[in-house]
Amino acid sequence: MNVAGVVLAAGGSTRFGRPKQLLDWNGIPMVAHVADVALAAELSPVVVVLGHSAEEIQAALAGRPVRIATNWRWEEGLSTSVQTGLGALPPDTDAAIFLQCDQPLITPDLLRRLVTRFQETGAPIVCLVYESRRASPTLFARPLFRELAGVTGDQGGRALILRHPQSVETVEVDDPDLLADVDTPEEYERLRARYGAPPPAASLLAPVRHLIVDMDGVLWRGDQPMPGLGDFFATLRALEIRFVLATNNASKRPDEYREKLARFGVEVPLEAILTSAQATAEYLASLAPPGTPVYAIGGSGVRHALTEKGFILAEEGARYVVVGWDPDLHWQKMAKAALLIQRGAGFIGTNPDTTYPTPAGLVPGNGSNLAVLELTTGVKPVVIGKPEPWLYRAAMARMGATPETTAALGDRLDTDILGGRRAGLRTILVLSGISTPEDLARSPVRPDLVCADIGELARLWREAR
Ligand SMILES: [Mg+2]
Repeated sequence: MNVAGVVLAAGGSTRFGRPKQLLDWNGIPMVAHVADVALAAELSPVVVVLGHSAEEIQAALAGRPVRIATNWRWEEGLSTSVQTGLGALPPDTDAAIFLQCDQPLITPDLLRRLVTRFQETGAPIVCLVYESRRASPTLFARPLFRELAGVTGDQGGRALILRHPQSVETVEVDDPDLLADVDTPEEYERLRARYGAPPPAASLLAPVRHLIVDMDGVLWRGDQPMPGLGDFFATLRALEIRFVLATNNASKRPDEYREKLARFGVEVPLEAILTSAQATAEYLASLAPPGTPVYAIGGSGVRHALTEKGFILAEEGARYVVVGWDPDLHWQKMAKAALLIQRGAGFIGTNPDTTYPTPAGLVPGNGSNLAVLELTTGVKPVVIGKPEPWLYRAAMARMGATPETTAALGDRLDTDILGGRRAGLRTILVLSGISTPEDLARSPVRPDLVCADIGELARLWREAR
């Protein structure tokens, strides 16, 4: 008996902000996981029907012995994907099991039981059932292929089950979650929490020799040190992991951060701290010699970083405009910056954060000021801070590190983790700051590892060695 598998993965779900097919399941995209289940059940061939984001999803299946079938009419409904899948089956196929790509709890054993029931009974339709509720995946035998190919709209195989109730055999499951489909971010998180294996922390952490650490939301929250702060640094030192503490915040000087850590009982050398202002000055030093006049908006962090690299802070003849967050910003400064940029001065932003958190709520951050200048001048700034890769590259240069041995640790998906991925690093998200588990479920940005806080990370790291 030749029983094939058809994975229906053409749909364009919108609730997740990215193709549902690519949601992470135990470290691999969900569509790849479902294909693996079909392959493990020895269905042959395994056809994966793609439509929406076909190229991206096909790349996620690379290396698997599956056949790709493209449904160019996926927007017309599920039935077109069923037709595409049928069209890709070899002529000697006796039956095919149609799987949804969003049922990650289906096991090879359940698929084998469908095949066995088909072999025992010869029934043209076999589906799974929990307490009389029928569910995918469903096996259809060859005599029904022609009729199945004629179904239209969004019905798929369900239409045939309704038409031929006497022909349906079932396989009972005892846990409704086995049939659950990932339809909402909440359901995805629930199923992952219950069934997803923990990420392979040990294999991820073992090769890491260099760590780039975000500070606010990771090492402290406001004026409170994070629990386990001292133990975290003791662990890094014991495991000989070099680190740079890198922040998008350009308004403070490195020694202010060192003092803050010292108040929390942690001593770090000044070279271990890197602000986006310093990374900006280093970037500028690669473009222009010392003595170049630069017009700077920003606090002492920006001014100090630029003069330390030998730049002269001046409005007259300024060749570059550097914009960082500035508590004393006023209209005249913005006007000067706009005029200089229009006269051809290079436009550089320390960091793109559009908001700045205060106890009372969010207020304009540096990214908002950059937007004002961009709107005024029509010139896009070069932005140094996360999620652009410059800050991470500057941090790696300080440690003599390469991306292969380096991880980025932070509390924000849209800056720390996205920037780390862009710089080609392993990424570790802690849930002790800005990004929440709900953000994580919705975000297209996937960290390699998620920890509650640095205390948990330190424990995992000790176990990995
Ligand atoms: Mg942070």
